[in-house]
Amino acid sequence: MNIVNKRDFEQADQAHLLDAIDRWLEREVKPVVKEHDHADTWPAEIVAQMRDMGLFGATVGVEYGGLGLPATTYAEIVMRISAMWMAITGIFNSHLMLALAIEKFGTGQQKKRWLPGLASGDIRGGLALTEPDAGTDLQGIRMTARREGGDYVINGTKTWISNGIEGSCFALLVKTDPEAKPRHKGMSLFIAPKQKGFTVGRKLEKLGYKSIDSAELVFEDYRIPADHLIGEVEGQGFYQATGGLELGRINVAARGVGIAEGALKLATEYAQVRHTFGKPIAEHQAIALKLGEMATRARAARLLTLDAAAAFDRGERCDMEAGMAKFFASEAALENSTESLRIHGAYGYSKEYDIERLYRDAPLTCIGEGTNEMQRLIIAKQWIKRSNNA
Ligand SMILES: Cc1cc2nc3c(=O)[nH]c(=O)nc-3n(C[C@H](O)[C@H](O)[C@H](O)COP(=O)(O)OP(=O)(O)OC[C@H]3O[C@@H](n4cnc5c(N)ncnc54)[C@H](O)[C@@H]3O)c2cc1C
Repeated sequence: MNIVNKRDFEQADQAHLLDAIDRWLEREVKPVVKEHDHADTWPAEIVAQMRDMGLFGATVGVEYGGLGLPATTYAEIVMRISAMWMAITGIFNSHLMLALAIEKFGTGQQKKRWLPGLASGDIRGGLALTEPDAGTDLQGIRMTARREGGDYVINGTKTWISNGIEGSCFALLVKTDPEAKPRHKGMSLFIAPKQKGFTVGRKLEKLGYKSIDSAELVFEDYRIPADHLIGEVEGQGFYQATGGLELGRINVAARGVGIAEGALKLATEYAQVRHTFGKPIAEHQAIALKLGEMATRARAARLLTLDAAAAFDRGERCDMEAGMAKFFASEAALENSTESLRIHGAYGYSKEYDIERLYRDAPLTCIGEGTNEMQRLIIAKQWIKRSNNA
């Protein structure tokens, strides 16, 4: 199936692309989502279709075979898919973070070598930053890379890595100088393909975000050539790993918008067909008030996200805008999915209805790409700085 012809994309407008995504969701995704989600099975056929559509190269430059989409279009795609099944966006979103790190910070040679395979989806992977003892405090990671002649030898463990089992290549954050002060100066980012010394420790079981594999990755005397160091200069890893966070946060915000809108749609439909006391529950004021709040929340989340994406596309610094969008949209996802579940009454608690999936998927958006606790601190820091410069 090839619903978006990459060669024709430049002529196709955003509406055409989004229409194709909508049709694909209805025709291919909707019929299989419940079965995959409940069995927690990796959706091979959906991944193949996303690959045919070019989604693994969505934000990669056209010169490397990607679609080169602006952040606004990318966010719209993620919103639509997440309104039905947020987990599958993680399969290409995490992968695009790896591609972004290479495209933004890699040498010319590294871009030529890795980006075409990543854009086509022949190579799939993700971003491996988190360790058992270090998530928010990334500078506290313990994984080390030791230089030995023309190679680096890497030891340590990563955890919670999306696409860890099905992916074949990861951007791997390590310490090349564990004694460095400040700590970030001793950090480097490597392109790490699966090979001898790199094994999957275990698959992690989760509340939601099913069907995408989250895994522990173990590195034991894993040896790679020095040309796998992104940018080929040590000590840049912390900036390289966090340099994609603006787009990463826009992506998580878009997931939140999708869940908030999806939950609203399900609640709106249900509230008009479920009757109590002789009328649809939508006509009871308590339910109408909920729908009014949910609709406002979803719209505000959408506007904040598109505002951040538009600033990103204009090349402006938008860490505060992306942080606000991520924070607000993920909380909107959590609140709207909870309210929608309540509007569904007992059926909201049933595995036969879709809302239970959105309810289980929503909390991840509050954790990924910087927890919402940290997000508020980042927003405040920027806000104060900009206010003082105004
Ligand atoms: C399903 C899933 C997929 C993931 N995928 C990936 C992936 O692909 N790659 C990857 O590298 N990681 C991934 N992660 C990990 C994720 O990025 C981390 O869980 C996240 O960064 C938080 O780190 P932590 O879990 O170690 O929490 P901690 O850092 O231990 O934080 C615990 C709590 O303390 C709060 N906290 C911490 N420090 C502060 C502070 N200074 N001020 C205020 N509050 C603070 C946090 O907000 C949180 O509420 C994934 C996680 C999940 C659940």
